[in-house]
Parts: sequence; structure tokens; C-alpha cells
Amino acid sequence: MPASTDALDPRLGRLVEGIVQLAGGDLTTRIEPSPARDDIDAVIIGFNLMAEELRAANAELERRVENRTALLQQAHHQMERMSLTDPLTNVYNRRALVMSLDRAITDAVETAEPPAVLLLDLDSFKGVNDSLGHGAGDLVLKIVAQRILHAVREGDIVARLGGDEFAVLLPATSTAQARVVAARIVESLSQSVTVDDRRFNFGASVGIASPEGTDSAEYLLVKADTAMYAAKRDENSSIMAFDPVLLYARQRRSQLVSELRSAIDAGQLVLHYQPVVELATGRIEGVEALVRWNHPTRGLLMPDDFIPLAEESGSIVDLDGWVLRAGLAQLRQWQTTLELDDRFTLRVNISAAELQRLEFVDDVRAALAAATVDPAHLVLELTESKLVTGTDLEQYSLRGLRNLGVGLDIDDFGTGYSSLAYLRNLPMDVVKVDRSLIGDVATDARQQRFVVALLELIRACGMEAVFEGVETRDQAEMLRSLGCTNGQGFYFGRPVPAGEIEAVLAGAGGHHPVN
Ligand code: C2E
Ligand code: MG
Ligand code: MG
Repeated sequence: MPASTDALDPRLGRLVEGIVQLAGGDLTTRIEPSPARDDIDAVIIGFNLMAEELRAANAELERRVENRTALLQQAHHQMERMSLTDPLTNVYNRRALVMSLDRAITDAVETAEPPAVLLLDLDSFKGVNDSLGHGAGDLVLKIVAQRILHAVREGDIVARLGGDEFAVLLPATSTAQARVVAARIVESLSQSVTVDDRRFNFGASVGIASPEGTDSAEYLLVKADTAMYAAKRDENSSIMAFDPVLLYARQRRSQLVSELRSAIDAGQLVLHYQPVVELATGRIEGVEALVRWNHPTRGLLMPDDFIPLAEESGSIVDLDGWVLRAGLAQLRQWQTTLELDDRFTLRVNISAAELQRLEFVDDVRAALAAATVDPAHLVLELTESKLVTGTDLEQYSLRGLRNLGVGLDIDDFGTGYSSLAYLRNLPMDVVKVDRSLIGDVATDARQQRFVVALLELIRACGMEAVFEGVETRDQAEMLRSLGCTNGQGFYFGRPVPAGEIEAVLAGAGGHHPVN
């Protein structure tokens, strides 16, 4: 039936409506064709086909957009994770830790349960890197990270801040609880680590800090670092909680460090000399140069007050260099003005760090040449406990010194843990036995037997012994009767300024022959 020509076909109205809906985004719009199946219905069917086509194309587009978005999000998460992770150990990094700290500090204001941060650092990690290379060092750091992870609870944040420094954030805890966790970490790190078939033991020092008032995350880390630094220096405790007193002590030390740098140039260092004697005759076979710092406001400072600072801050190289040159110049002067024994030696203490410097042997050679002193009259003393066992550089330096012709002593023997077998492989001539090993030798029969055995071992290794810290006549006599040949200590003479030792060397001072 043909449509009326008077009235507008209603299907045209529906078509217009449909086009508007489609254009408005409703891709489900469809129009029912009429039973007439005339040309308008053909347009309607065309419209429906087009609408379906559009819907399908749009769905495909949406699926693709969704896929792309998911990929982008994944990449974004991965980047975020990477920017918060330490690539070597896979624990968090400093940035992540600071973010978590910020959050924990804010949360604490609401819950009144403060977070605590533990900062820890290995005590002798540098030795591994130096002796086995960085590959081995990396392996150790991975093991350390795993051990820390095992020692803490889920929800605690473990981060590596760089080098051998790690931190743990305990989000809500007490100082007592933080100490328990710190002790657990120290305990797990005290187990030895095996790398390249060699076993290493690292201690760890831990500093603990909790936020107070308006402490920022960064300041909290400074507090933890200050506590850790104090723990490192404390012989009795490897765990320390922050206390404002520590901050003061640290400021004092860093002031001393900067003063020490200029002290060398300002001529504030002085050398005192202590005799080393032959026990049987009291003959002075040499003197040991011991440095003191004539501090403008703090008075005369002893080496234990500033040598460790010089070692930490690197100024030990300048300090040792000054001692060497000043001591040799003094020796040269004595050689020309006094009638010294041919075998008379000057002993100079050298920080173990010197052996890690390629130029050290040349520096010693130059100092000897500048003072015109024969190398045979110089003995360098190296503290046993500080020798880094067997790095190539150390071996190189020791061999170089040996070839140069200077004497080499092991100082403070008995305070470290080296075996005589190890010492035998070092090109050393003399072992200076630490005073802690002879304290009761005059009265204690067990100590006497120990000294005899020790002496036998030292000689079996082809070395001689000097016994340090001889304070009484009884000690001196006992040592001599046990077969010891050389000693040093207050009984024979305290360390004194050059002028005083000069009087002794010139024969004005009394000898103490022991017989
Ligand atoms: P050291 O080389 O073992 O020096 C011996 C220390 O024992 C000296 O302390 C000396 O005064 C002390 N002493 C000597 N006889 C006796 C005694 O009978 N009884 C007691 N109780 N003590 C005695 P000082 O001068 O305080 O030196 C301490 C350490 O500082 C030295 O130990 C040495 O390791 C280091 N040192 C000193 N001067 C230098 C230096 O120029 N460079 C370097 N790198 N270290 C130095
Ligand atoms: Mg010494
Ligand atoms: Mg000593």
C-alpha cells in the first residue's frame, strides 16, 4: 500500500531521530523497518547496517585503547618500582625509605605509635672489596640484604642507602622493640659469609632513632646516623639509640678534624721519643717517635685522641708524612751531633692505610733521601690488628719497603687475631708484643710460660721480639730471665720531647741495665 502523499511518512521522522541519536553517540540505535519494504525501508535497513558497523568499529577501538592503557600502566608501575628499588639487592632504595618515613611520621601523629628507623653499616666491608674485588663485594651485599629481610617482619621497610649502608623502618614501635630487632639483625649478620671459598666475618653497627616534635624524615636519618657512628666507635656495644649528647660529641669531633688539617701546617704537631732498650745492658738501640698535638685551646692531645680521626678523615697521610720527615730530620741531626751507635734506629708508626697507597714506597724513599738517612736506620711500625690481610697492594708496598732496606715491625702484637703462619709470610723483622700480654709476668707463672712459648714461636718464624709496656724493674728482670732480649716501657723511659731524649742519648741520663 503506497504511502499517503499528504502526510509526511512517519518513518522519515524516526530516521531523523535515529540519525540524531547516532550522532549523539548512542550506537545501539536501531529503527524497525515497516512491512511495506519500500525504498524508505531500504534506507532504514541501510541505516541499521551502518549503525551496527559503527558499533563494532567503536568496540574494537575501545578494546585497543584498553589494551594500550593497561600496557602503559604496567610500564608506569615498573618504572615506579624501579625508581624505588635498589637494583643490586632488590630491597628499597633511599627515595623509597624517605617516602615511607614521611608517611610513618604523619601516621604517628594520629595513632601515637611512633616509627623507628635503624641505620646499619658493616664494620669491615671495605676489606672484601679491596681484597676480592667488587664482584665479591656485590655478592656480600646481596647476602646481607637477605639476612636483614629475614630478621624483620612483613610490613617493615628494608632499604639500601648506598655502599654497605642499610636502613630498616619499623612503622609503629617502641625503642625497646626496635632494640630487639636491631639485636636480631646484628646476630644474623655476625654469622660468617663465604665468598670465593674464603670466609669473612663482618660486625655491624646499628643506630636507632625515633621522630620527636617536627623532625623530618631527613633529620631522622641524621639522628640515626649519629647513633650509628657512636655505635661504631663504642667497643662494648654495636647498637646505640640516638641521644642529643651524641650529636654534640660528633660536632666536636668534626671540628677537631678540620682543626687537625691546619694543625699540620701550623706546626702544632710535636714528636716525643721513647727509648727501645736491650734488656741485658740497658743500651738504647733506638727510639720510637710518638706524635702529640699541641692544641691551642685543649692542651697537649695524645695520639689516641686524634689518630683515629685522622684515619677516618684521610688526613692521616699528611700526618704520617709529617712525622716521617720530622723524625728523619731529627735523626739526621743527632747523627751529626751525637755519637750514636751504628745500629741506632728511629721507629716511626705508620697507619695501615699507607700500604694501600701506590706512592707510599716512593714517599718513604724521598723522605730518606731528603734527610740523607740510610734506610737501615729507619724502622716502620705497623699495628697488627689494622693490617688488611693480604691485598695485592699491601704485598706490593711491603715488598717495596723491604727492597728499600727499611726495617718493618708488627706493633701491638696480641691485639689482633693474626696467626703466626700468616705473619711468617710477611716480610717483617720484629714483633712488638703488646703490653696487655705481659702485665702480670713478674708474678703470674702461667703468663711466664706463655711468654716463653710466644718467644719460641716468634723466633721459629725468623723474627725477634720487643716487649712493650715494661713498667717495673720486676717485669724487666723476669722478661730477661725468660730469654727476652729487648723491651720498651716507662721503666726504661717515658716518651719525652727531643731535648730530653737527646740528653739521655748523649749519656747524661741513667741506664737501667737489668741483670
Ligand atoms: P704504639 O706504637 O704501640 O706506642 C706505644 C704507646 O704505649 C705510646 O702511647 C706510649 O706512650 C705507650 N707506652 C710506652 N711505654 C708504656 C708503659 O710502660 N706503660 C704504658 N701504660 N704505656 C706505655 P702513645 O704515645 O699514646 O701512642 C699510642 C698509639 O698511637 C701508638 O701506639 C701508635 O699506634 C699511635 N701513634 C703514635 N704516634 C703515631 C704516628 O706518628 N703515626 C701513627 N699513624 N700512629 C701513631
Ligand atoms: Mg708503635
Ligand atoms: Mg705498640
